[in-house]
Amino acid sequence: MPSRKSQTDDLILTPGSDPSALPTPKPRAKRKPELSPTRIRSFLTCPMLYRLEYIDKVGRFYHRAQAGWALGSTLHQTLQAFHEEGGADNVSRAELIEKMDAGWISSGYGTVENETRHRNAAAVILHGYHSSAAERAETTRTFLTEKMLKYDMGAFVLTGRIDRIDEHLADGALEIVDYKTWDSVHEDDVKEAMAMSVYQLLVKRLHPDRRVFATIHALAGGVTASASFTDEEMAAFEDDLRGVGLMILETDWEAVFPKPIADTCPGCDFLKICRSYWIREGAEWERVLGIP
Ligand code: SF4
Repeated sequence: MPSRKSQTDDLILTPGSDPSALPTPKPRAKRKPELSPTRIRSFLTCPMLYRLEYIDKVGRFYHRAQAGWALGSTLHQTLQAFHEEGGADNVSRAELIEKMDAGWISSGYGTVENETRHRNAAAVILHGYHSSAAERAETTRTFLTEKMLKYDMGAFVLTGRIDRIDEHLADGALEIVDYKTWDSVHEDDVKEAMAMSVYQLLVKRLHPDRRVFATIHALAGGVTASASFTDEEMAAFEDDLRGVGLMILETDWEAVFPKPIADTCPGCDFLKICRSYWIREGAEWERVLGIP
């Protein structure tokens, strides 16, 4: 009768066995660190913010649920399901609203009235979205939705979770589409958004033969704006990003302490921690932050 033991079984030590007689397990290749647009933006905003969020990992004790977050997440999930199921061709307007209600996230609205107001506003947004999706279906097809893309940049792996990519039927161009709950959007908003630049780099490096551009869909206003890199701009951005990534990897986190940033600290979830530090140090943080 042939043995049904696996190779893994053969590595189990039993009393009295000689460990030196066993094959040495191969060392696992060390995984490269991964950097996302959110991490990179955090570091560029404030290294202490990065330290608290990703090194000390205390964010879960300090992040506050906000109505904006819940609404954005609900709309993202609803639109993901909508496009995965074939968009306006397969999902009616009423079904789209039903999907939203089924996946509605209630946290952070404070009162029932506020939640109802946001729910009604979201229904109006999806109503308009359905019409524009039906129009786009004649010239584009969904290429992918909610996908994590990765690009090896040497010392680290660049990652980005993309809401949606549409393929244009006329020339095969790939359009990265990101949803925001905004009322309006301008081309400069797309150009200046770190995440949109990272997404373009990821998609271009994975599909070098395609034209690639990025669009922000401002859901509340039902408007969009697009921007793209030239090849030279993209190469320069990639170089800059590699430099920032190396700075993050080489930072001595024990030596990072909070430095007040006037337009950032007042709205930061970690202000309580940093404030305690400044008080202990006797720093004039109130003056810097404009707090009376
Ligand atoms: S409160 Fe200011 S210094 Fe502290 S983590 Fe936030 S942004 Fe950085």
